[in-house]
Amino acid sequence: MNLSNELQLPEFKIISKKEDDGVLYYNVEPIDDPSKCPHCNSLDFVKYGGIERFVRDMPLYGEPVAITILSNRFKCKNCDQTFTASFEFVADRSKITNRLKEDIKKRCLSGTISNLSAETGLSVATISRIIDEHIEEQESSWRYYTPEILGLSTITLGKKQRTLCIDIKRHGVVDILEKADKKSIYDYLVSKLSSEDIEAIVIDFNNPHRVAAYKACPGVDVIIDKYYTSREITRATNQELKRLNNGSLRWVILKNSSNLSLSESDELESGFSANPHLREIYETKERLYDIYECKTTSEAEMVLNKIIKTLPKDCKYFKELIDKIEDFSVEVFSFFENPYSSSCIQNAAKAVMSIEKQGTGYSFRNLRARILFNQDRKVAKAIIRKRVYGKNNHSSATCFNLMTGWRNEAIRYKEIEKSLGNYVEIEELQKLF
Ligand SMILES: [Zn+2]
Repeated sequence: MNLSNELQLPEFKIISKKEDDGVLYYNVEPIDDPSKCPHCNSLDFVKYGGIERFVRDMPLYGEPVAITILSNRFKCKNCDQTFTASFEFVADRSKITNRLKEDIKKRCLSGTISNLSAETGLSVATISRIIDEHIEEQESSWRYYTPEILGLSTITLGKKQRTLCIDIKRHGVVDILEKADKKSIYDYLVSKLSSEDIEAIVIDFNNPHRVAAYKACPGVDVIIDKYYTSREITRATNQELKRLNNGSLRWVILKNSSNLSLSESDELESGFSANPHLREIYETKERLYDIYECKTTSEAEMVLNKIIKTLPKDCKYFKELIDKIEDFSVEVFSFFENPYSSSCIQNAAKAVMSIEKQGTGYSFRNLRARILFNQDRKVAKAIIRKRVYGKNNHSSATCFNLMTGWRNEAIRYKEIEKSLGNYVEIEELQKLF
């Protein structure tokens, strides 16, 4: 075995190697002495005793690597100061080689800390410190990106309400805000984004989001899309059934009438004759969904008014929902003029939740980093594909080549990136986890 080549560290020669308890220990010596005194640049210095430095390096053969550098101290005859040699592969005073640090930074947002610790032999605390450093670097180079159609969705992460910000047009996660209150959203829209470039904001039934949206972006269309209303209709229907204490036909009642099989229709009819209140619930639900059969805002408003007039007295949960729709009527009916779908928000929310599951116990900051900054090659590739070349202009393979051999493209890409800011592809986010 050629020991001198094994670590691929041209600054050193390996003196000895041993394996102990699953760790590879190397003793190495610098090949060259320093060329000059770092204090005064004098060439006139002498050896002044030995010194040992212990550093961790990249795992080898699947085992953690520890290197002891057997080096010398030197004394300058000109300025009388002592010094030790500096090395390219490890920063002065660092206990981790540069390449190991870079490798950890590259992988730390997708793997777990305990795995990295086991692989490298570094303590959890040291790895956490490297991750913090990495997150800080990424945060400072993150360029806020303003989509034309912004989706804001409340999402619960770490038992707290957060705000997921989505580029609805390009299906990208633009950001995740730590809080979901009015002030946080407003500050984000005004100070981080170019709020004047936002044309429409899709929200759920969330008043703070709505207030912040209108205040930060006057004249913007604020929309509650079909999905959110449908979710509320399902919820209210469930509550009404619970009120009746009748859950036996729940799934059939929740089904869209056009999707009912013959036997299900029969089941429903016999359920209705046994309890006429079930029919009321079923029909109100169907009529609420009918709102979305409408083509225009005025048609939809007419349908809602009809429901209000004929709403059974006991259906207090439907009443609450209708009150809510009326409260948010501008936004709900705005959907008919601006039919943006929030389905990509649901996909993003699912991906984000699964990332949270993997990183249980991580701070919000860490979690945000895992979502936004975990841009491995796959994600970067997709971003280049979509944003620089247009989605359909290049195959993935071509783009991969562009990505790996992009010297000429780099400048152009960087310029475009700079003007666009960052976001993370939802599709790619889903694939990663
Ligand atoms: Zn000197």
